[in-house]
Amino acid sequence: MSIAELRQQLKLGKFSARELVDERLSRIGKVDKKLNAFLEITAERARADANRIDEARASGESLPPLAGVPIAIKDNLCTKGVTTTCSSRMLEHFVPPYESTVTQKLWKSGAVLLGKTNLDEFAMGSSTETSAFGTTSNPWDITKVPGGSSGGSAAAVASGECLASLGSDTGGSIRQPASFCGVVGLKPTYGRVSRWGLIAFASSLDQVGPFTTNVADTAEILQVIAGGDPLDSTSLKEPVPDYSACLDNPLSGLRVGLIKECFDQEGLSSEVKESTLAAADLIQSLGVELVDVSCPHFNDGIATYYVIAPSEASANLARYDGVKYGYRSESSNDLSSMTTRSRTEGFGAEVKRRILIGTYALSAGYVDAYYKKAQKVRTLIRGDFDNAFNQVDILLTPTAPTTAFSVGSHSEDPVSMYLSDLLTIPANLAGLPAISLPCGFDKSGLPIGLQLIANVLDEQRLLQMAHQYEQAASVMKQKPAGQYIP
Ligand code: GLN
Repeated sequence: MSIAELRQQLKLGKFSARELVDERLSRIGKVDKKLNAFLEITAERARADANRIDEARASGESLPPLAGVPIAIKDNLCTKGVTTTCSSRMLEHFVPPYESTVTQKLWKSGAVLLGKTNLDEFAMGSSTETSAFGTTSNPWDITKVPGGSSGGSAAAVASGECLASLGSDTGGSIRQPASFCGVVGLKPTYGRVSRWGLIAFASSLDQVGPFTTNVADTAEILQVIAGGDPLDSTSLKEPVPDYSACLDNPLSGLRVGLIKECFDQEGLSSEVKESTLAAADLIQSLGVELVDVSCPHFNDGIATYYVIAPSEASANLARYDGVKYGYRSESSNDLSSMTTRSRTEGFGAEVKRRILIGTYALSAGYVDAYYKKAQKVRTLIRGDFDNAFNQVDILLTPTAPTTAFSVGSHSEDPVSMYLSDLLTIPANLAGLPAISLPCGFDKSGLPIGLQLIANVLDEQRLLQMAHQYEQAASVMKQKPAGQYIP
């Protein structure tokens, strides 16, 4: 069911908001013991919200656009009065006294919170395995990871536990799990969506975005969460266009660029490559011209990101000192050892690794060699995209080099895990909007994701192309059986 259908049915009285919520809660009850997509289920609040919507409808009030839409929220977005852990022991008992801007906007639009979803600790990871509260399973095959870091949000939508969810994307954390779980995931332009209340990982890269089962729903959620925010000075004040209105505009005359460097990738699976190239052919048949483009610094993205993101993380995570909020070790009696112990006991291994890398890259003797150099390469990557967008409207790549990998298969080798984000990271470094949507299945029946990247603030064209590809390809109509796929 799409959001538009839900709205229509609710209006016609085919079902109530309460029935909708109860149905999803019972789905969660059935499948989440296996999936572990949720860290907390806010059933009571969801039922009360749904009742209020039904009462409003009964009394003839007009309902807001997302009235009754059951939504899950990644547990690094602050929800007032609802525990927000970042999947870390450090914030295990943190109950935010304020609401993030994006969630505030969702509740104002009538969406109903079903619960908070699992992630890699502090959003650092590509498999949801670094969560302090257990890994999430891929609903297609529970021996596989759902991707990460927003694995819980992706798995919750894919398994029908909720209609839509929010995630955050610093280097691919919305798009890669969307690809692994066979759903749509959008990372908006940096600044299109407010980061107020998103617990910071790497502030120059972090962006919030939706997971949905179809592109039209993505347009609806983006419509609600986009826009400038006085509480986030990096948010963009540009007016928010009507994203749903442009979905069916003709594609003819548009140009799509295939980034050469992506398809020459050593680690790119041949099934993923074939499937995305077939998607490009289908897009061509819709009246679009395909062009080969080169982004010579594209493959430097990973090295650049793994200096910049940990550097920013080391600064952002310095606030967890055991003093004001968060975990405090009780086993010490002086300030310095209390801080050390709190951080030692509160953070997991991957988070510590990032803090160490970032602290090193920013240290006096190395800041020029690492951090400043990485910033220069970042500029080159952005320059490549600027050149490409002089020739084409949209860029096309696979979302991830492979389909979902087995639980545990990369945990001992961080670099092999990092390579999972090879194709998604450049859009973050350049601040560009990018979407992942299903384009096929591999031999084991696991979904493959197609990534489309647009120029800054061109979400309209991104959604338009994604929507029309989705309609033409009907990928989900040919879906194989998945263990926990409705
Ligand atoms: N997987 C990448 C990392 O570990 C990206 C994470 C993200 O986008 N939050 O940093």
